[in-house]
Amino acid sequence: MKIWGIFLDRDKNTEKSITIALPTPERVYVPVPHDGEAEVKAGQWVLAGSRISSGMVPSHASVSGKVEEIKRIDDPAGSYDAVVIKADAEQKQAAVKMPRADDRDSFISAVCASGCTAGFKLAAARDADILIINGTESEQYVTSEYRCILDDSQLITAGIALTSRLMGIENIIVAVPNDLPEAISAMEKAAGEVKGCTVSKVRPDYPGGSDLVLVNNLAERKLRAGETAADQKVLILMPSEAAFIASYFETGVPFIKRRVTVDGDLVKTPCVVEAPVGTPLSELLAFADANVDPAEKLVVGGMMTGRSVTDTELPLGKNDDAVLIFMKPIDPGKGSLKISDAKTNCIKCGRCMRACPISLMPMRIEKALHKKKNRKAELARLRPELCIRCGACTYVCPAKRDLNRVIERANELLDRKESEEE
Ligand code: SF4
Ligand code: SF4
Repeated sequence: MKIWGIFLDRDKNTEKSITIALPTPERVYVPVPHDGEAEVKAGQWVLAGSRISSGMVPSHASVSGKVEEIKRIDDPAGSYDAVVIKADAEQKQAAVKMPRADDRDSFISAVCASGCTAGFKLAAARDADILIINGTESEQYVTSEYRCILDDSQLITAGIALTSRLMGIENIIVAVPNDLPEAISAMEKAAGEVKGCTVSKVRPDYPGGSDLVLVNNLAERKLRAGETAADQKVLILMPSEAAFIASYFETGVPFIKRRVTVDGDLVKTPCVVEAPVGTPLSELLAFADANVDPAEKLVVGGMMTGRSVTDTELPLGKNDDAVLIFMKPIDPGKGSLKISDAKTNCIKCGRCMRACPISLMPMRIEKALHKKKNRKAELARLRPELCIRCGACTYVCPAKRDLNRVIERANELLDRKESEEE
């Protein structure tokens, strides 16, 4: 049975924007991976593309210049170290070492060494027999993958062919929304050049790009609680990851830049830019003529799954595809863009249940949370641990209830030891 989602307001102001290279920022804050350490010290000069950290997927200098310090960054998603590099005027590239791969292991090692986090996915899904290229991008505002499909379709084709050959995957599905004819045509052309590759025109609903929905609807396999796509032998890559893999094998230049959408009601010039990893959000916002002062909400990533931040000096991470800034008051729910009226009582409309891709019953979970007796048993029966945190229930609720938080509280309660509850 297919899983359907909800339709979000489209609000994609940058669909027609060509990708612009961001001018070199004054300094960058390149994240050091959690399993690695910085390999450079303050005062050292680095060239763009030189490796600056250890780790399974290491980091590389995204600009050339002088290392100023290793700084702790406090991001709401968790703190991490970053190598702060003050850019120089020359912007010289490090000499490249061309990657070589002739089998699955050497391919996975090469992609990991490139600094692209697709390396983690390849390593986890080494036994995959289906490759899905996820071009769905169903969240509001974000067009980074769509622009990649239109601008880099040849690279995507080459990346799919390389991944398919070296990972030994013969079944490839490219998922593209059925309302984007240009993307469909670009990907159908690509599919025609790779054996075993088909294009699936999917409904542009949300969360159509989640692993749960892609594995269920396209691979026709079921993800059980706690499983990832790799557990079902499905490898899911973004179009930009396929394009980067091809580019890396063609040029040897590691992952130091990414496409990012800059948009929101405080942005005068919405745009899609290619920016060095570690660029402060403030530089991206300034480039898009954003008026930061009256901002009520700054989101890194999509409105539904991104993270709300307050510090405009936080750096752009390797997987951050959007920076969105708004003056409108926002609901407390995870990124919902509705005007923040005070919440009212549940009117039992059932919309949250119909919106949930896994048929959870958020309103019943909320009711169970307030029970005096048998609360834990009732909550356990409603299976809140299956929630994929998509935020669709909060988005549709006319009573403006923060159902994301409700599910979180239910799971916190179920995680508590017997003696601590009730
Ligand atoms: S309960 Fe979880 S999975 Fe269901 S709609 Fe809400 S956030 Fe999404
Ligand atoms: S969508 Fe909101 S108002 Fe409707 S049943 Fe769910 S919690 Fe209640």
